[in-house]
Amino acid sequence: MEGMETLGRLLTDLGERSAYDAASQCSRCGYCEQACPTYTATGREAYSPRGRNQIVRLMLEGKLDDPEGALDALSSCLLCGACTTACYAKVPTPDLVLEGRRALRARAPAAVRALTRLQLRSPRTLERLLKLAYLAKRLGLSRAARPVLRALGLGVLAEMDEHVRRVPERIFDDERRRAPGPEGENWTYFAPCGPRYLFPRAALATQSVLKRLRGPGRFRDNRCCGLLAHNYGELEGARELARRNISEAESWGPGPIVADCSSCAAFLKSYPQLFLSPGQDGWRRRAQRFAARVRDAVEIYAQDAARLPPAPGLGATCWHDSCRGLNGEGLKDEPRRVARAIAGEEFREMPRADACCGGAGAFAFTRPELSDELLRAKVSGAAAAQARTVVAGSTSCLIQLARGFRMYYPDAEVIHISEYVARALGEKHGP
Ligand code: SF4
Ligand code: SF4
Repeated sequence: MEGMETLGRLLTDLGERSAYDAASQCSRCGYCEQACPTYTATGREAYSPRGRNQIVRLMLEGKLDDPEGALDALSSCLLCGACTTACYAKVPTPDLVLEGRRALRARAPAAVRALTRLQLRSPRTLERLLKLAYLAKRLGLSRAARPVLRALGLGVLAEMDEHVRRVPERIFDDERRRAPGPEGENWTYFAPCGPRYLFPRAALATQSVLKRLRGPGRFRDNRCCGLLAHNYGELEGARELARRNISEAESWGPGPIVADCSSCAAFLKSYPQLFLSPGQDGWRRRAQRFAARVRDAVEIYAQDAARLPPAPGLGATCWHDSCRGLNGEGLKDEPRRVARAIAGEEFREMPRADACCGGAGAFAFTRPELSDELLRAKVSGAAAAQARTVVAGSTSCLIQLARGFRMYYPDAEVIHISEYVARALGEKHGP
Protein backbone atom coordinates (compact mmCIF):
# COMPACT_ATOMS: atom_id res chain seq x y z
CA MET A 1 0.00 0.00 0.00
CA GLU A 2 1.35 3.43 -0.96
CA GLY A 3 1.41 5.67 2.13
CA MET A 4 0.96 9.42 2.41
CA GLU A 5 3.73 11.99 2.40
CA THR A 6 5.88 11.88 5.56
CA LEU A 7 8.06 14.61 7.07
CA GLY A 8 11.17 12.44 6.99
CA ARG A 9 13.10 14.78 9.30
CA LEU A 10 12.10 15.92 12.79
CA LEU A 11 13.12 18.68 15.19
CA THR A 12 13.98 16.87 18.41
CA ASP A 13 15.27 18.17 21.73
CA LEU A 14 18.69 16.90 20.60
CA GLY A 15 18.53 18.77 17.29
CA GLU A 16 17.32 17.94 13.77
CA ARG A 17 17.26 14.19 13.08
CA SER A 18 15.96 11.82 10.43
CA ALA A 19 12.86 9.95 11.60
CA TYR A 20 14.92 6.76 11.63
CA ASP A 21 17.65 8.27 13.82
CA ALA A 22 15.00 9.67 16.17
CA ALA A 23 13.34 6.24 16.47
CA SER A 24 16.74 4.62 17.00
CA GLN A 25 17.35 6.85 20.03
CA CYS A 26 14.82 4.71 21.90
CA SER A 27 16.92 2.27 23.92
CA ARG A 28 13.77 0.31 24.93
CA CYS A 29 14.53 0.98 28.60
CA GLY A 30 10.84 1.23 29.46
CA TYR A 31 11.36 4.19 31.75
CA CYS A 32 8.45 6.05 30.13
CA GLU A 33 5.91 3.21 30.38
CA GLN A 34 4.21 4.33 33.57
CA ALA A 35 3.79 7.84 32.17
CA CYS A 36 1.88 6.51 29.15
CA PRO A 37 -1.90 6.59 29.66
CA THR A 38 -2.70 3.98 27.00
CA TYR A 39 -0.12 1.55 28.39
CA THR A 40 -1.24 1.94 32.02
CA ALA A 41 -4.90 1.54 30.95
CA THR A 42 -4.34 -1.59 28.85
CA GLY A 43 -1.02 -3.13 29.92
CA ARG A 44 -0.32 -3.83 26.24
CA GLU A 45 3.26 -3.42 25.04
CA ALA A 46 2.03 -2.35 21.59
CA TYR A 47 0.16 0.49 23.29
CA SER A 48 3.32 1.74 25.03
CA PRO A 49 5.83 4.35 23.78
CA ARG A 50 8.52 1.68 23.55
CA GLY A 51 6.23 -0.59 21.53
CA ARG A 52 5.19 2.23 19.20
CA ASN A 53 8.78 3.38 18.62
CA GLN A 54 9.74 -0.18 17.78
CA ILE A 55 6.89 -0.41 15.27
CA VAL A 56 8.02 2.79 13.54
CA ARG A 57 11.62 1.63 13.49
CA LEU A 58 10.68 -1.74 11.95
CA MET A 59 8.54 0.08 9.44
CA LEU A 60 11.40 2.38 8.41
CA GLU A 61 13.66 -0.67 8.09
CA GLY A 62 11.08 -2.34 5.83
CA LYS A 63 10.63 -5.22 8.29
CA LEU A 64 7.03 -4.66 9.41
CA ASP A 65 4.99 -7.84 9.05
CA ASP A 66 1.63 -6.77 10.55
CA PRO A 67 0.58 -3.40 9.11
CA GLU A 68 -2.96 -3.66 10.50
CA GLY A 69 -1.78 -4.32 14.07
CA ALA A 70 0.77 -1.52 13.65
CA LEU A 71 -1.88 0.95 12.52
CA ASP A 72 -4.08 -0.01 15.47
CA ALA A 73 -1.20 0.57 17.91
CA LEU A 74 -0.28 3.91 16.34
CA SER A 75 -3.90 5.10 16.05
CA SER A 76 -4.48 4.47 19.74
CA CYS A 77 -1.73 6.95 20.73
CA LEU A 78 -3.07 10.15 22.28
CA LEU A 79 -0.05 12.15 21.03
CA CYS A 80 0.05 13.48 24.58
CA GLY A 81 3.87 13.61 24.79
CA ALA A 82 4.01 12.36 28.40
CA CYS A 83 6.54 9.77 27.20
CA THR A 84 8.88 12.39 25.77
CA THR A 85 8.72 14.38 29.00
CA ALA A 86 9.64 11.23 31.00
CA CYS A 87 12.31 10.00 28.56
CA TYR A 88 15.95 10.83 29.36
CA ALA A 89 16.77 10.73 25.62
CA LYS A 90 13.73 12.89 24.76
CA VAL A 91 12.61 10.50 22.01
CA PRO A 92 9.88 12.38 20.08
CA THR A 93 7.40 9.49 20.17
CA PRO A 94 4.29 11.51 19.15
CA ASP A 95 6.03 12.80 16.00
CA LEU A 96 7.25 9.29 15.21
CA VAL A 97 3.75 7.92 15.71
CA LEU A 98 2.44 10.49 13.22
CA GLU A 99 5.16 9.54 10.74
CA GLY A 100 4.11 5.90 11.12
CA ARG A 101 0.43 6.68 10.63
CA ARG A 102 1.16 8.68 7.48
CA ALA A 103 3.26 5.86 6.03
CA LEU A 104 0.61 3.24 6.77
CA ARG A 105 -2.48 5.09 5.58
CA ALA A 106 -3.32 5.50 1.92
CA ARG A 107 -5.00 8.88 2.44
CA ALA A 108 -6.41 11.20 5.07
CA PRO A 109 -10.05 10.67 6.13
CA ALA A 110 -12.50 12.26 3.67
CA ALA A 111 -13.89 14.61 6.35
CA VAL A 112 -10.39 15.98 7.11
CA ARG A 113 -9.64 16.48 3.42
CA ALA A 114 -12.93 18.33 2.91
CA LEU A 115 -12.41 20.45 6.02
CA THR A 116 -8.87 21.39 5.04
CA ARG A 117 -10.03 22.37 1.54
CA LEU A 118 -12.71 24.60 3.02
CA GLN A 119 -10.29 26.17 5.53
CA LEU A 120 -7.97 27.03 2.65
CA ARG A 121 -10.39 28.04 -0.06
CA SER A 122 -13.50 29.30 1.67
CA PRO A 123 -13.49 29.74 5.45
CA ARG A 124 -16.75 31.74 5.15
CA THR A 125 -18.52 28.72 3.66
CA LEU A 126 -17.22 26.68 6.57
CA GLU A 127 -18.65 29.24 8.99
CA ARG A 128 -22.03 29.13 7.27
CA LEU A 129 -22.10 25.32 7.40
CA LEU A 130 -21.18 25.43 11.07
CA LYS A 131 -23.98 27.87 11.85
CA LEU A 132 -26.45 25.59 10.06
CA ALA A 133 -25.22 22.62 12.09
CA TYR A 134 -25.58 24.64 15.32
CA LEU A 135 -29.12 25.62 14.35
CA ALA A 136 -29.96 21.96 13.69
CA LYS A 137 -28.54 21.05 17.09
CA ARG A 138 -30.52 23.75 18.90
CA LEU A 139 -33.68 22.49 17.18
CA GLY A 140 -32.93 18.94 18.33
CA LEU A 141 -32.49 17.69 14.75
CA SER A 142 -28.91 16.53 15.17
CA ARG A 143 -29.89 14.18 17.99
CA ALA A 144 -32.48 12.54 15.78
CA ALA A 145 -29.87 12.20 13.04
CA ARG A 146 -27.38 10.27 15.20
CA PRO A 147 -28.65 6.75 14.37
CA VAL A 148 -28.65 7.63 10.68
CA LEU A 149 -25.09 8.91 10.91
CA ARG A 150 -24.02 5.70 12.64
CA ALA A 151 -25.79 3.56 10.02
CA LEU A 152 -23.96 5.50 7.30
CA GLY A 153 -20.60 4.77 8.93
CA LEU A 154 -20.29 8.38 10.15
CA GLY A 155 -20.31 7.37 13.80
CA VAL A 156 -17.58 9.95 14.57
CA LEU A 157 -20.00 12.80 13.76
CA ALA A 158 -22.67 11.20 15.95
CA GLU A 159 -20.14 10.91 18.80
CA MET A 160 -19.13 14.54 18.36
CA ASP A 161 -22.73 15.63 18.55
CA GLU A 162 -23.24 13.59 21.70
CA HIS A 163 -20.12 14.96 23.40
CA VAL A 164 -20.83 18.62 22.73
CA ARG A 165 -23.85 19.46 24.85
CA ARG A 166 -24.29 23.17 24.04
CA VAL A 167 -23.39 25.24 21.01
CA PRO A 168 -23.10 29.04 21.07
CA GLU A 169 -25.73 31.40 19.69
CA ARG A 170 -23.04 33.33 17.85
CA ILE A 171 -19.46 32.53 16.87
CA PHE A 172 -16.61 34.82 17.99
CA ASP A 173 -16.46 36.74 14.68
CA ASP A 174 -20.14 37.71 14.98
CA GLU A 175 -19.72 38.70 18.64
CA ARG A 176 -16.82 40.96 17.66
CA ARG A 177 -18.74 42.62 14.86
CA ARG A 178 -21.48 43.49 17.38
CA ALA A 179 -19.05 45.21 19.75
CA PRO A 180 -15.96 46.51 17.94
CA GLY A 181 -13.49 48.27 20.23
CA PRO A 182 -10.39 50.46 19.82
CA GLU A 183 -7.38 48.59 18.53
CA GLY A 184 -3.68 48.78 19.29
CA GLU A 185 -0.39 47.07 18.51
CA ASN A 186 0.51 45.56 21.88
CA TRP A 187 -0.59 42.05 20.94
CA THR A 188 -2.41 40.14 18.21
CA TYR A 189 -5.03 37.61 19.15
CA PHE A 190 -4.76 34.41 17.11
CA ALA A 191 -8.21 32.81 17.37
CA PRO A 192 -7.91 29.02 17.55
CA CYS A 193 -10.91 27.16 16.06
CA GLY A 194 -12.18 25.97 19.48
CA PRO A 195 -12.60 29.38 21.14
CA ARG A 196 -13.52 30.97 17.81
CA TYR A 197 -16.36 28.64 16.86
CA LEU A 198 -17.37 26.71 19.99
CA PHE A 199 -16.30 28.76 23.02
CA PRO A 200 -16.61 32.41 21.91
CA ARG A 201 -16.94 33.49 25.53
CA ALA A 202 -13.40 32.25 26.12
CA ALA A 203 -12.17 34.14 23.03
CA LEU A 204 -13.88 37.36 24.17
CA ALA A 205 -12.48 36.88 27.68
CA THR A 206 -8.96 36.46 26.27
CA GLN A 207 -9.24 39.75 24.41
CA SER A 208 -10.61 41.56 27.47
CA VAL A 209 -7.89 40.20 29.75
CA LEU A 210 -5.09 40.99 27.29
CA LYS A 211 -6.42 44.53 26.98
CA ARG A 212 -6.52 44.96 30.74
CA LEU A 213 -3.05 43.53 31.25
CA ARG A 214 -1.19 44.76 28.15
CA GLY A 215 -3.24 47.62 26.68
CA PRO A 216 -5.01 47.63 23.30
CA GLY A 217 -4.26 44.92 20.76
CA ARG A 218 -6.19 43.39 17.92
CA PHE A 219 -7.59 40.32 16.25
CA ARG A 220 -6.57 39.56 12.69
CA ASP A 221 -8.61 37.15 10.65
CA ASN A 222 -6.22 34.19 10.97
CA ARG A 223 -6.60 30.80 9.31
CA CYS A 224 -6.89 27.54 11.25
CA CYS A 225 -3.43 26.64 12.61
CA GLY A 226 -3.50 23.35 10.61
CA LEU A 227 -3.18 20.94 13.54
CA LEU A 228 -6.07 18.71 12.46
CA ALA A 229 -4.77 18.50 8.88
CA HIS A 230 -1.26 17.75 10.20
CA ASN A 231 -2.40 15.02 12.60
CA TYR A 232 -4.55 13.27 10.01
CA GLY A 233 -2.01 13.24 7.22
CA GLU A 234 -2.84 16.32 5.14
CA LEU A 235 0.72 17.63 5.38
CA GLU A 236 0.58 19.92 2.36
CA GLY A 237 -2.74 21.34 3.61
CA ALA A 238 -1.18 22.02 7.02
CA ARG A 239 1.83 23.64 5.33
CA GLU A 240 -0.37 25.88 3.22
CA LEU A 241 -2.36 27.01 6.27
CA ALA A 242 0.94 27.68 8.04
CA ARG A 243 2.30 29.66 5.07
CA ARG A 244 -0.80 31.86 5.02
CA ASN A 245 -0.66 32.52 8.77
CA ILE A 246 3.07 33.26 8.63
CA SER A 247 2.69 35.64 5.65
CA GLU A 248 -0.21 37.47 7.30
CA ALA A 249 1.60 37.75 10.62
CA GLU A 250 4.52 39.54 8.98
CA SER A 251 2.26 42.61 8.78
CA TRP A 252 0.80 42.24 12.27
CA GLY A 253 3.04 44.64 14.17
CA PRO A 254 5.69 43.81 16.72
CA GLY A 255 3.69 42.45 19.70
CA PRO A 256 3.27 38.79 20.65
CA ILE A 257 0.83 36.53 18.82
CA VAL A 258 -1.39 35.12 21.55
CA ALA A 259 -3.48 31.93 21.24
CA ASP A 260 -5.83 30.66 23.94
CA CYS A 261 -5.94 26.94 23.15
CA SER A 262 -2.74 25.17 24.18
CA SER A 263 -3.01 22.57 21.41
CA CYS A 264 -3.10 25.35 18.84
CA ALA A 265 -0.36 27.43 20.53
CA ALA A 266 1.95 24.40 20.74
CA PHE A 267 1.40 23.61 17.07
CA LEU A 268 2.03 27.22 16.00
CA LYS A 269 5.33 27.04 17.89
CA SER A 270 6.20 23.86 15.96
CA TYR A 271 5.70 25.37 12.47
CA PRO A 272 9.45 25.21 11.62
CA GLN A 273 9.23 21.39 11.57
CA LEU A 274 6.91 21.61 8.56
CA PHE A 275 9.69 23.16 6.49
CA LEU A 276 12.74 20.93 6.89
CA SER A 277 12.88 19.50 3.35
CA PRO A 278 15.52 20.71 0.86
CA GLY A 279 14.41 23.92 -0.85
CA GLN A 280 12.32 25.11 2.09
CA ASP A 281 15.00 27.13 3.89
CA GLY A 282 13.23 30.46 3.28
CA TRP A 283 9.96 29.25 4.76
CA ARG A 284 11.81 27.59 7.60
CA ARG A 285 13.39 30.90 8.63
CA ARG A 286 10.04 32.70 8.36
CA ALA A 287 8.39 29.93 10.42
CA GLN A 288 11.11 30.30 13.07
CA ARG A 289 10.50 34.06 13.32
CA PHE A 290 6.74 33.44 13.54
CA ALA A 291 7.08 30.70 16.18
CA ALA A 292 9.32 32.91 18.33
CA ARG A 293 6.46 35.44 18.60
CA VAL A 294 3.76 32.94 19.62
CA ARG A 295 2.62 32.90 23.23
CA ASP A 296 0.06 30.73 24.96
CA ALA A 297 -2.39 33.07 26.76
CA VAL A 298 -1.39 31.29 29.99
CA GLU A 299 2.19 32.54 29.57
CA ILE A 300 1.02 36.16 29.41
CA TYR A 301 -1.25 35.77 32.45
CA ALA A 302 1.59 34.12 34.41
CA GLN A 303 3.96 36.99 33.64
CA ASP A 304 1.38 39.34 35.14
CA ALA A 305 0.25 37.01 37.95
CA ALA A 306 1.35 39.54 40.61
CA ARG A 307 -1.18 42.01 39.17
CA LEU A 308 -4.11 39.58 39.31
CA PRO A 309 -6.44 40.28 42.23
CA PRO A 310 -7.39 37.45 44.59
CA ALA A 311 -10.95 36.42 43.74
CA PRO A 312 -11.89 33.28 45.61
CA GLY A 313 -15.49 32.17 45.75
CA LEU A 314 -15.60 29.28 43.28
CA GLY A 315 -14.77 26.67 45.94
CA ALA A 316 -11.82 24.26 45.80
CA THR A 317 -10.09 25.10 42.54
CA CYS A 318 -7.70 22.85 40.58
CA TRP A 319 -5.69 23.22 37.39
CA HIS A 320 -5.91 20.53 34.71
CA ASP A 321 -2.77 20.26 32.54
CA SER A 322 -3.54 19.89 28.86
CA CYS A 323 -1.04 17.51 27.26
CA ARG A 324 0.11 19.99 24.63
CA GLY A 325 0.43 22.78 27.19
CA LEU A 326 2.46 20.67 29.61
CA ASN A 327 4.43 18.33 27.37
CA GLY A 328 4.38 20.40 24.17
CA GLU A 329 5.05 23.86 25.61
CA GLY A 330 6.51 22.94 29.02
CA LEU A 331 3.94 25.04 30.90
CA LYS A 332 3.82 23.57 34.38
CA ASP A 333 4.40 26.40 36.87
CA GLU A 334 2.81 29.17 34.79
CA PRO A 335 -0.86 28.12 35.01
CA ARG A 336 -0.49 27.25 38.69
CA ARG A 337 0.93 30.70 39.42
CA VAL A 338 -2.19 32.21 37.83
CA ALA A 339 -4.65 29.91 39.60
CA ARG A 340 -2.91 30.41 42.97
CA ALA A 341 -2.92 34.20 42.60
CA ILE A 342 -6.68 34.19 42.06
CA ALA A 343 -7.93 31.25 44.15
CA GLY A 344 -5.56 31.79 47.09
CA GLU A 345 -6.32 29.23 49.82
CA GLU A 346 -8.93 27.62 47.59
CA PHE A 347 -6.28 26.36 45.14
CA ARG A 348 -5.56 22.64 45.36
CA GLU A 349 -3.39 20.31 43.35
CA MET A 350 -5.48 17.37 42.18
CA PRO A 351 -3.99 13.88 41.90
CA ARG A 352 -2.68 13.23 38.38
CA ALA A 353 -3.41 16.76 37.22
CA ASP A 354 -0.88 16.02 34.45
CA ALA A 355 -2.68 12.92 33.12
CA CYS A 356 -4.49 13.09 29.79
CA CYS A 357 -8.28 13.41 30.17
CA GLY A 358 -8.84 11.30 27.04
CA GLY A 359 -10.04 14.26 24.95
CA ALA A 360 -6.91 14.52 22.75
CA GLY A 361 -8.42 16.18 19.68
CA ALA A 362 -10.70 13.68 17.98
CA PHE A 363 -9.52 10.73 20.14
CA ALA A 364 -12.65 10.89 22.30
CA PHE A 365 -14.76 10.37 19.18
CA THR A 366 -12.59 7.77 17.46
CA ARG A 367 -11.66 5.60 20.50
CA PRO A 368 -14.59 6.26 22.86
CA GLU A 369 -14.01 3.31 25.22
CA LEU A 370 -10.34 3.99 25.94
CA SER A 371 -11.07 7.70 26.12
CA ASP A 372 -13.81 7.11 28.68
CA GLU A 373 -11.50 5.05 30.87
CA LEU A 374 -9.01 7.91 30.97
CA LEU A 375 -11.81 10.38 31.60
CA ARG A 376 -13.07 8.42 34.61
CA ALA A 377 -9.55 8.35 36.09
CA LYS A 378 -9.27 12.11 35.58
CA VAL A 379 -12.65 12.78 37.20
CA SER A 380 -11.64 10.55 40.16
CA GLY A 381 -8.64 12.83 40.70
CA ALA A 382 -10.89 15.90 40.74
CA ALA A 383 -13.27 14.16 43.14
CA ALA A 384 -10.39 13.13 45.43
CA ALA A 385 -9.42 16.81 45.67
CA GLN A 386 -13.10 17.69 46.22
CA ALA A 387 -12.76 20.17 43.38
CA ARG A 388 -15.62 22.51 42.61
CA THR A 389 -13.87 24.38 39.81
CA VAL A 390 -11.34 22.93 37.38
CA VAL A 391 -9.50 25.43 35.19
CA ALA A 392 -8.20 24.32 31.77
CA GLY A 393 -6.67 25.86 28.67
CA SER A 394 -7.34 23.55 25.76
CA THR A 395 -10.51 23.08 23.72
CA SER A 396 -10.72 19.30 23.68
CA CYS A 397 -10.09 19.22 27.46
CA LEU A 398 -13.00 21.65 27.99
CA ILE A 399 -15.35 19.43 25.97
CA GLN A 400 -14.13 16.23 27.58
CA LEU A 401 -14.08 17.47 31.19
CA ALA A 402 -17.51 19.09 30.89
CA ARG A 403 -18.86 15.74 29.76
CA GLY A 404 -16.98 13.85 32.48
CA PHE A 405 -18.26 16.08 35.28
CA ARG A 406 -21.80 15.93 33.88
CA MET A 407 -21.72 12.12 33.92
CA TYR A 408 -19.55 11.21 36.93
CA TYR A 409 -19.06 14.19 39.25
CA PRO A 410 -21.65 16.95 38.85
CA ASP A 411 -20.22 18.81 41.88
CA ALA A 412 -17.48 20.25 39.67
CA GLU A 413 -17.42 22.52 36.65
CA VAL A 414 -14.69 23.23 34.12
CA ILE A 415 -13.83 26.77 33.05
CA HIS A 416 -11.41 28.19 30.47
CA ILE A 417 -8.41 29.99 31.98
CA SER A 418 -9.30 33.27 30.24
CA GLU A 419 -12.84 33.27 31.62
CA TYR A 420 -11.40 32.49 35.03
CA VAL A 421 -8.98 35.43 34.88
CA ALA A 422 -11.65 37.71 33.39
CA ARG A 423 -13.93 36.93 36.30
CA ALA A 424 -11.17 37.88 38.77
CA LEU A 425 -10.65 41.16 36.92
CA GLY A 426 -14.40 41.86 36.98
CA GLU A 427 -14.67 41.67 33.19
CA LYS A 428 -18.12 41.11 31.77
CA HIS A 429 -17.18 38.02 29.72
CA GLY A 430 -16.46 35.97 32.84
CA PRO A 431 -18.90 33.30 34.04
S1 SF4 B 1 11.00 6.36 24.71
FE1 SF4 B 1 12.71 6.91 26.07
S2 SF4 B 1 12.10 6.27 28.13
FE2 SF4 B 1 10.73 5.24 26.64
S3 SF4 B 1 11.66 3.23 26.25
FE3 SF4 B 1 12.45 4.62 24.69
S4 SF4 B 1 14.35 5.48 25.52
FE4 SF4 B 1 13.25 4.53 27.25
S1 SF4 C 1 2.21 10.20 23.25
FE1 SF4 C 1 1.06 9.61 25.11
S2 SF4 C 1 -0.24 7.86 24.50
FE2 SF4 C 1 1.35 8.14 22.89
S3 SF4 C 1 3.00 6.75 23.47
FE3 SF4 C 1 3.49 8.75 24.38
S4 SF4 C 1 2.63 8.71 26.46
FE4 SF4 C 1 1.69 7.02 25.31
